[in-house]
Amino acid sequence: MAGARRLFAGTPWIGNDCYFPSQTARPPPIPWSGEMAQFFQDYRTLDDINRYLDLLAQRHPKLVTVREIGHSWEGRPLRVLEITKDGNSAEKPCIFLEGGIHSREWIATSTVLYIAGSLLREAEKSDVQLLLKHFVFTLLVPVNPDGYVYTWEVDRMWRKTRSDRPNLQCDGKVAGVDANRNWGFTFGKTADKSYESLLHDPCSSVFIGPKPFSEPETKAASDYMKQRQEKSLQLKSETAGPGYVAAFIDYHSYAEAMLPPWAYTAETPSGPDGVYQTEMTKSLNRAFFNTSGRTFHAGADVFPPDPGTGPDWAYGLLGIRATMTIELEGHSFCLPATQIQNVGQEQWAGVKALASFIQKHGGEPSTETGLFAPGGNSLLVAANPSMEAPASYGWLIALTVGGVIVVAVAGLMGARSWLRTSRGRSYAADGIELE
Ligand SMILES: [Zn+2]
Repeated sequence: MAGARRLFAGTPWIGNDCYFPSQTARPPPIPWSGEMAQFFQDYRTLDDINRYLDLLAQRHPKLVTVREIGHSWEGRPLRVLEITKDGNSAEKPCIFLEGGIHSREWIATSTVLYIAGSLLREAEKSDVQLLLKHFVFTLLVPVNPDGYVYTWEVDRMWRKTRSDRPNLQCDGKVAGVDANRNWGFTFGKTADKSYESLLHDPCSSVFIGPKPFSEPETKAASDYMKQRQEKSLQLKSETAGPGYVAAFIDYHSYAEAMLPPWAYTAETPSGPDGVYQTEMTKSLNRAFFNTSGRTFHAGADVFPPDPGTGPDWAYGLLGIRATMTIELEGHSFCLPATQIQNVGQEQWAGVKALASFIQKHGGEPSTETGLFAPGGNSLLVAANPSMEAPASYGWLIALTVGGVIVVAVAGLMGARSWLRTSRGRSYAADGIELE
């Protein structure tokens, strides 16, 4: 619904956690003694986050496996926690949660940490125990540690990675890349010429980078999911074997919105997957409302089209149906630390609702798109992952699947001039969330 499209112009710097209008370094947080309950009294430095993750692993050795899946551009380890109970985690359906791909969205980072803590704190409760037996929860946080450190030490509003390429700098400084435009599906594809120039501008906050998965952070996260999906398909059958990724949620802020596929067209998939995704957002919204009283905006069209996002890649190429971006609460990137626990509880309820939804409606990968669609196992092997679109249509993308061309989605031309105007505004103001 074009009429439902909206952008969320907040009111930056009022009642927020950004101490300096100059957006420079933040004072130290309330000290953390190592007490678990105290951790969420404030936002935390990367060192404290790593201490927290280590502590969770030490205290729950039977439930937690820490795995290093790569290193950031500046060499920081990218670690996931795999949380499950009994049985082989490699053979369980995986719920993959990540936060902090955009470094200034601190509440996204704290929320994924809160979910990790809750899974373990409540591991003996009967409902959680059932979920931990059935699923493995994999949490990657923060996805973009270099950017996160930079938001603490230099520029609170930094969004991108910190990759520094001599030929791709911004006025002689580190450009970084928007890691949520860097995934290998619909990479850089837009019919909007002014947006396209921003996507290729190292100085813009949505710079896509030199190629898909140029950033070690997106490469590591995507490889983890891809390996699970490929292994699940190993028998060369077109049905899923054990261990597939059943869900991928990418937490951001701020907009109070759930954005299932497709981000790149802002259109809902027309088949059963679209129905599944719509029902999924409804069940999360019930959980949110019951916990915090909030109802989130939901739908592919809540934000304007954006190419190269993580959830679109996860659905488009891996067929993960339960995938979306969740934009958390707030009216700026600087949600007060007093809100960390409220948002955490709300989203923890959402994760439980998501897992229950998958148990009820199935979490097997799509048969409409991606690896498990007819002939789809040739997709990843063959592909230029950026999936070239037929240029003459501009706004069409074709996936060649087993000789059958599945053409997905045409944009609403009428909405585009409106979007262009809004885009211009949104890039002019730094206090507005971009997916
Ligand atoms: Zn974001």
